[in-house]
Amino acid sequence: MHFNHDNRTGPELAADLVNAGDDPDGAELERLLRAHTIRRPALDDRAAAALRAWARRLRPVFTAASADERCAVLNALLDDAAGRIHLTTHDGLRPHLHLVADEEDVVARVRAVTAGGLAVLTAWTGGTRLGGCDRSRCGRVFVDSSRGGRRRYCSARCGNADAVARYRAAAPYRSR
Ligand SMILES: [Zn+2]
Ligand SMILES: [Zn+2]
Repeated sequence: MHFNHDNRTGPELAADLVNAGDDPDGAELERLLRAHTIRRPALDDRAAAALRAWARRLRPVFTAASADERCAVLNALLDDAAGRIHLTTHDGLRPHLHLVADEEDVVARVRAVTAGGLAVLTAWTGGTRLGGCDRSRCGRVFVDSSRGGRRRYCSARCGNADAVARYRAAAPYRSR
């Protein structure tokens, strides 16, 4: 799996929006958009609220229990996100698909790049590259760009913490 602008920006921005938590403020969201090179990322209160609502709809794409469920969630997002599908070569990039025109406002562009990117990645990989952290109570989601594609945790920290917890549960009289 080769990750680049066309299949990476959307899914990774989507994961960061979900992981921003329940109530990120506009400045925090704007920082995320900038980090993912979204152009004209300035957000007023209304746009920030729209992106918070969108982030809540993105979560089940990562945590879906089956391919059918993931496709159904994504199709609903595409219904609300896709406009005129076209090819672009902006910023000297190789040709790739955009789902809305560049003149659209920032909310429309973020919806399009996240829904479109997640849909393309799902079509290419069967959805096996999207997931939620296995550590209970973590709640973070991730895009699995590892070679083997068997990532289970949002971070090495969660993986280690979970390994320690499982070891203790399996051996209650040792290691305390
Ligand atoms: Zn692009
Ligand atoms: Zn985690």
